[in-house]
Amino acid sequence: MSSPCVLVLAGLDPSGGAGLLADAEAVRAMGARPVCVATALTVQTTRAARRFEAVKPALVAESMKALLEEEDVRAIKIGMVGNRAVAAEIAALLQARPRLPLVVDPVLAASSGARLFEGSSSDARDAYLRLAKGAVLTPNVAEAEALLGGKLDNPLMAATLLGEGAGAVLLKGGHLPGHPTDFLFQPEGEERFSAPRIAATARGTGCRLASAIAAGLARGLSVREAVVAARQLVRDYLQAHVSV
Ligand code: PLP
Repeated sequence: MSSPCVLVLAGLDPSGGAGLLADAEAVRAMGARPVCVATALTVQTTRAARRFEAVKPALVAESMKALLEEEDVRAIKIGMVGNRAVAAEIAALLQARPRLPLVVDPVLAASSGARLFEGSSSDARDAYLRLAKGAVLTPNVAEAEALLGGKLDNPLMAATLLGEGAGAVLLKGGHLPGHPTDFLFQPEGEERFSAPRIAATARGTGCRLASAIAAGLARGLSVREAVVAARQLVRDYLQAHVSV
């Protein structure tokens, strides 16, 4: 059987630590085949992101449409979109494929601090909430706060993003104190995934996690199963980057 196809829409990080190159690696590692549309070109090294330019919205849309027409796409992963206009074009095309599994990883800034979204915080909120309809949304704490428009005093508050239309929310709690815990909220209930912290510095873990979930969904796994498999993939990746 051939590998199921995953369409990835994300930014290009030429250094390969994050963005499309990392997404493609994760999709392949999960036994699926990536096809990729760049939404933005970043100037980035393995150390830091410097700046980016978003791709013209019409070009992103044309490329996405062509791939959806010709490939048997089984799941979509959306990462960095760069601005509201690109998000709007993608959201419009998604409307024609409401049943396709979708994973949305909101990307607002690089870990080095550089912004990866141009526009106001309300533009970022609107852009990603619009894309998140029916999707598995994978924010970290800062991104969840941006989407909620307020402080996340308790991780359970991220569940309110289901009320904004997300099909499931995976809050990545890696930056919370204690054992890193991810919280999966689905309409049927909540589940926590916790494991000992791995002392590694590696970029693009968020990109890899979301892409691996999309690949799992493309292979027919449930959201829970895809999250479990994707967490393992990221843990293996971190383990390989432990500095000795
Ligand atoms: N560059 C691009 C294109 C990304 O999509 C991301 C993803 O979050 C990043 C950079 C940020 O990666 P990191 O948090 O590892 O700096």
